[in-house]
Amino acid sequence: MMDVEAMDRIRLMQGDITKLDVDAIVNAANKSLLGGGGVDGAIHRAAGTGLLEECKSLGGCFTGEAKLTRGHQLKAKYVIHTVGPVYSGKPQDAKLLADCYLNSLTLAVNHGIQSIAFPAISCGVYGYPIDKASTIAITTVFDFLKTSRSIQEVIFILFSALDFNTYQNVLKKISGNQAAI
Ligand code: ADP
Repeated sequence: MMDVEAMDRIRLMQGDITKLDVDAIVNAANKSLLGGGGVDGAIHRAAGTGLLEECKSLGGCFTGEAKLTRGHQLKAKYVIHTVGPVYSGKPQDAKLLADCYLNSLTLAVNHGIQSIAFPAISCGVYGYPIDKASTIAITTVFDFLKTSRSIQEVIFILFSALDFNTYQNVLKKISGNQAAI
């Protein structure tokens, strides 16, 4: 019963994360936290130079960890910057990717954030295969929501239709397994 409820707090969307009106958006950043390409570049462009100024004070971030800033010119109140692993094919990739989601959610809870949106961390330049990464993303978030009631909504926002379809299939599979228990 409670697990079904946790699944109801997960939503999939296709589009641009910088446009979302949520408490926090998650940035797939690099270790410098000083901006980059992909979703990182898009977030810095939309948030304005105030975000870069704030990021300069953070001293970077290790892979799998997460740090929080204000949202500046974004609709989102906060940006949670996390650094995904560069895909290597080794077992530690999965642990580091799961840590990104866990540490972001923990920061969110500690700041009273109720709605949060994730991009497909590591699935661009960092080369993580989307089918593997989406399974880790969804199961990690789902398990977290089962134990924490303070987050009301977790959105996975995918840029491409193909990525969206992959997430949709994985979500169906995981919620199907859940219903069967
Ligand atoms: P990484 O370096 O962690 O792989 P990227 O930014 O290269 O990060 O890619 C992560 C994912 O973010 C990719 O699936 C990419 O398609 C997606 N992406 C890029 N721009 C946006 C955006 N504005 N909103 C949502 N997702 C985006």
